[in-house]
Amino acid sequence: MQYDIAIIGAGPGGIFSAYELTKRAPSLKVAVFEAGHSLEKRRCPIDGKKVKSCIGCKSCSIMSGFGGAGAFSDGKYNITNDFGGTLYEYIGRQQALDLMHYVDEINMLYGGEGTKLYSTAGSQFKKLCIQHKLKLLDASVRHLGTDINYVVLQNLYNELKDKVDFYFDTPVQAIEAKNGVFTVVCGGAHYECEQCIVSVGRSGSKWMEGVCHALDIPTKSNRVDLGVRVELPAVVFSHLTDELYESKIVYRTEKFEDNVRTFCMNPHGIVVNENTNGIVTVNGHSYEDEAMQTENTNFALLVAKHFSEPFHDSNGYGESVARLSNMLGGGVIVQRFGDLVRGRRSTVKRIEEGLVTPTLAATPGDLSLVLPKRILDGIIEMIYALDKIAPGTANDDTLLYGVEVKFYNMEVALDEHLETAHRGLYVIGDGSGITHSLSHASASGVFVARDILAKRA
Ligand SMILES: Cc1cc2nc3c(=O)[nH]c(=O)nc-3n(C[C@H](O)[C@H](O)[C@H](O)COP(=O)(O)OP(=O)(O)OC[C@H]3O[C@@H](n4cnc5c(N)ncnc54)[C@H](O)[C@@H]3O)c2cc1C
Repeated sequence: MQYDIAIIGAGPGGIFSAYELTKRAPSLKVAVFEAGHSLEKRRCPIDGKKVKSCIGCKSCSIMSGFGGAGAFSDGKYNITNDFGGTLYEYIGRQQALDLMHYVDEINMLYGGEGTKLYSTAGSQFKKLCIQHKLKLLDASVRHLGTDINYVVLQNLYNELKDKVDFYFDTPVQAIEAKNGVFTVVCGGAHYECEQCIVSVGRSGSKWMEGVCHALDIPTKSNRVDLGVRVELPAVVFSHLTDELYESKIVYRTEKFEDNVRTFCMNPHGIVVNENTNGIVTVNGHSYEDEAMQTENTNFALLVAKHFSEPFHDSNGYGESVARLSNMLGGGVIVQRFGDLVRGRRSTVKRIEEGLVTPTLAATPGDLSLVLPKRILDGIIEMIYALDKIAPGTANDDTLLYGVEVKFYNMEVALDEHLETAHRGLYVIGDGSGITHSLSHASASGVFVARDILAKRA
């Protein structure tokens, strides 16, 4: 089978490549290969009743399938170069922002219209933060919410399904490169194409490593982010979340001069489990639909850990810390802030007596037995700093869930076109190690589609 262009992975990166290619050059023959299911078949069996924990499905519906890892996410599209990836280092700051705005316009056209765009521009909180040694990062945030995010994906699929050949439940095993032609190998089938866009995200990281090794493409990896998810009454942060929705705040610790940052803020949201390769970590969601909202707000506090020679396995380090929490708690551990600073574990009774009702059933325990001291000290310092701009953050009953881990893909060696040394082979999205967010991954997809079209013209 011959295609002009093959796309591997139907996450935001792959979807926006396909969208842009079919919009601008409808006569091109484009295929999308996706290891996971089509959108309507994506269903995680954990229902909290019959199935309480991960049963290790062959294809994880949370991470894989049409929509990628972001399909059931909170759908926060952060339009900024300040976080979410380093796409701007390759394509320039202005172009990166323009493409993120373009992605936003498409999301609005396909069902997102009416959702709110928040912005830090002109916010009074910048000054308040800096007065307390905190830095508020610049961003506009489109919050689609889990429900509308799904609708947008459905509409994009309906737009694409007759213009692109989709191959679901089709993990690509290998890419072969010979004489300027790429062969995509899946099971017994071989598909040839002139250009190949690889957008396999976090779940495809190991596979990506193998492809890079086989095709002699250099990679590097040295970072993992570790921390906790904080849950507190929504009113404590409402002055910030009402105006900004998500505030990305950075604090530089006095003790170690480490940066601790807030991540993935979910006003009126819920704390959820996340299963990565059998290791249970914590994350958060929130819904646009008011009927599904809670009285709590949650966000992560993370510390980035960079390793130097001779250690290369930063993700392995993060996994080991997460495994420790799973060993002690059978999954995620929850602890009251008051118990943590008093050096004692939380118990079911202390949590029940507290003023914050947990939205995730986690095991009460002691996070100081899990997280490295340096990281935990930084998190405690930041909670006290946040207490100055959002009084109540450092209350005894504030809940901390651990651990939250952000794994990073290794960075693939790419040029300013996001192209490998094999001309015509592009790597985009989180699988490239360059992006870590919906907006950056989507923007990289549009960028590469346009680059390919310009070269084919
Ligand atoms: C629970 C959760 C919540 C999140 N919330 C947010 C948020 O609110 N805002 C935000 O900016 N980001 C969020 N993220 C991160 C965001 O989802 C990712 O940054 C984004 O999805 C990356 O897009 P991508 O296309 O690069 O990769 P992915 O979305 O990971 O898609 C890659 C696709 O490739 C497929 N694939 C992998 N290997 C192969 C193979 N060998 N053959 C064929 N297919 C393959 C996978 O099945 C997958 O569907 C969240 C992530 C999670 C897990």
